[in-house]
Amino acid sequence: MDETIFSKIISRKIPAKIVFEDDWYIVIHDIQPAAPVHLLVITKQVIASLNELKPEDGNLVGGMFLLAQGIMRKMGHTDYRTVFNCGPGAQQTVFHLHLHVLAGRLFTWPPG
Ligand code: AMP
Repeated sequence: MDETIFSKIISRKIPAKIVFEDDWYIVIHDIQPAAPVHLLVITKQVIASLNELKPEDGNLVGGMFLLAQGIMRKMGHTDYRTVFNCGPGAQQTVFHLHLHVLAGRLFTWPPG
């Protein structure tokens, strides 16, 4: 698998504002925030997108949401949005699994 921009952040080849890290995930601030708080929960394992998930990845993906919940709770946010963009037509630009976590403003529906 080619090195992604997020792999380079994980290996500290490029800098990022890191919020959390363990053996499975790194959480960073998005470089182009779409809300006052815009975090990315990134798997250390490189999985290109939701399309490549396998049944055995269920716990890994569930853990992304639990991590998002814990960080939002610590930051005092009860209202927030989580987004997986999957594929270019849904505006996915980095093909390394990541969950957007946005907070700090009112959100509208449907998204654009
Ligand atoms: P997506 O378009 O859903 O694939 O999301 C990729 C996200 O990564 C975008 O919101 C970008 O702003 C963000 N991003 C790209 N490069 C970096 C970087 N070096 N540091 C932090 N966030 C980044």
